[in-house]
Parts: sequence; structure tokens; C-alpha cells
Amino acid sequence: MSTEFVKQLNPHPATDEVREAVLQNPGFGKHFTDHMVCIDWQGDVEANTGRWDNARLQSYGPLSLDPSTAVLHYGQEIFEGLKAYRHADGSVWSFRPEVNAARLNRSAQRLALPALPEETFVDAIRELVAQDEKWVPSGEGESLYIRPFMIGTEPFLGVRPSREALFSVIASPAGNYFGTVEPVDIWLSRTYARAGKGGTGSAKCGGNYAASLIAQMEGDAHGCSQVLFLDHERGDAVEELGGMNVFFVFDDGRLVTPELTGTILEGITRDSVIQLAKERGLQVEERAFTLDEWREGVNSGHLTEVFACGTAAVIAPVRRLVSHEETIGPEDAAPGEVTMSIRKQLLDIQTGKAEDTHGWLTRLA
Ligand SMILES: *Cc1c(COP(=O)(O)O)cnc(C)c1O
Repeated sequence: MSTEFVKQLNPHPATDEVREAVLQNPGFGKHFTDHMVCIDWQGDVEANTGRWDNARLQSYGPLSLDPSTAVLHYGQEIFEGLKAYRHADGSVWSFRPEVNAARLNRSAQRLALPALPEETFVDAIRELVAQDEKWVPSGEGESLYIRPFMIGTEPFLGVRPSREALFSVIASPAGNYFGTVEPVDIWLSRTYARAGKGGTGSAKCGGNYAASLIAQMEGDAHGCSQVLFLDHERGDAVEELGGMNVFFVFDDGRLVTPELTGTILEGITRDSVIQLAKERGLQVEERAFTLDEWREGVNSGHLTEVFACGTAAVIAPVRRLVSHEETIGPEDAAPGEVTMSIRKQLLDIQTGKAEDTHGWLTRLA
């Protein structure tokens, strides 16, 4: 049974002119479509009771929150990120949204927020994208970035799980995330961690991002657009970037990526890359990958490519790892062949240029 949404349509949607001007140069996360979805929850996660109610499609606009609202004090916030792509025939599709729905619920469980039925998650996205379909760009590498999120909304300063929550979906036209596929340098953070044992590393929550911003500032100051975090136990194994997973390509056909340790975010792009790599005969190894192995691989020439992946950038070639102590990686900035080939294959599936043999696409409009 699909979710019924009450429609309170925006009386002042963007004019065609304004929207088209935005779509000329969307950037990332700066402009939003005319509507948003909101669904309210009341209940008690400790007692495992509660219900989602009042599903609505309404004008995009500010939320009104009491200053004592739970999320503003104790940070009960989780989110998702996925994209809608326009295909050549004009139809609009999203990539594995049911996996985002399942992940949202794993994050919800960790942050003591309520579970949302997976169908409701996908229905909410479809409701918004179908209404604001004109906002889906059609240029090369462009998409509509969809941001579902959930917050604890109970006005109460006591420390316990919020008994009210809001699930909302907003959408923002997106250009090519990094602008180009120029390889990026990444900063190795030795001072700061984004996750620790038993913490929230595998949940997609705002708090993890808040904790990573200071490291990102350090990276920015050293000319790096992303930060790499190391594992919390050994201290010498690669975990992930602030918002992307990482892969290493060897010249003997091995593709290595850090195993999921509970402190790494289980990327859907990561999972898709693993599947595609296996199908093309690469030997995928999910295991601890140390800085020593990275350095030695570069020095011996056997480690030929490094790339990062996540929904926003899809796949971004990595050039060098930079830290106070050393720089690992080649000077020359040519993106690797395996990186670019997997990137193309994934993008072709997402944009409808290649057949979706995995059943990864869901039509939204
Ligand atoms: C969202 C996210 C990723 C990438 O996940 P995708 O599902 O591929 O977009 C990787 N790391 C972190 C910390 C993230 O929040």
C-alpha cells in the first residue's frame, strides 16, 4: 500500500526563467526545488511504539522549531543522500533507493530515532521528484540530489530519546560535483578521528560530519579537498574519507578496500563498485589496508590507482595523500584507467546509457 500524501502545493513556485537560470549552473546544494516532503512521528522508541502521520508535500521553506527541540541540543539527526538522473527519453530514475531506506533505518536505530517503513521512504522521494520533475537537470554529469533526513523534534531538555520526530525530503539540482575528474589530493588527519569503537561511524549522522570539519579545515589549509581518517585501533590502517569510501587498484588485478569495521560508513557506491569489479574479473579484497602498504605500493609501482567513491562525486580519482610527515603518490595527475572505466560503467547505468542488469534503478517520474 503506498503512502498517501496531502498536497499543499507551493503557491509561488520558481518561474521558468528562475529555474532555468539555476539549472544553467546548479553548483551543489545551493538551490532547492519548490517543494519538500514532511512526515511526523510520535511515539516511544524505548517502548517500541509510535506512528508516522500527516505525510505531506508542501512548499519548500523554513521549519519552525521550539528552541528546546531535542535535535538542537543532543544531536539526534540522521540523513541520506541519493540522486535522480534524467534519461534520454525524459524519464527520471533513482539508484538503489531501497538500500538508502534500509541504511536510514540502521542509522535510526543507532541514534535512537524511529524506523521508517522502506516503502514510505521511496514513496516520499517519488512524491517530491514527480512534483518537482522540472528541476531534474539533463546535462552531462548532472542530477537532482535528494536529501532525506530525520530529526528528533520533541521540545524537551531531558536526556532521553525524543518522543517526536520529523522525516523530511528536500532536493537540489546538482552539477558535476568536483567540476572535473581531475585527481584530488587528500589530507591525512593524524590529530582527529571521525569515529571510534562503539561510536556512530557506521551511521549516517550529522554528528560525524560535525566531528570531521576541523580536520577538513586542516586539509583545506594544505590544499586538499578531502580528509582521510585512520582506524581507531591499529592507528595505521586506512578507513575512509569524511564522506567517501576509498579503493586501491593493483597492477595484478586486485582491488583493495577497507573492510567494514563498524566505524566505516557502508557506502552504496562502495557496494556497487565491488559488484561491478567482481563481474569484470577483478579480485576484490575487503581487508585492513595500511599506510605502509600504500607507500610501498606506490614506490614499487604495483599500486597503480587510488579512488574515492560516494553518491555526490560518484567516483573521484585520488592523486596524493598529504600529511605533515610525507606525501604519498605520484606528481602526475592522470586519472587511472580502471578508475575511469568503473566510473563510466556506473554512470552509464545510472543515466540509462547502459542496461540496468542488476535491477538497481527505480523510476520516479
Ligand atoms: C554517505 C557517506 C559515504 C558514501 O556513501 P554512498 O552511499 O556511496 O553515498 C561514505 N562515507 C561517509 C562517511 C558517508 O557519510
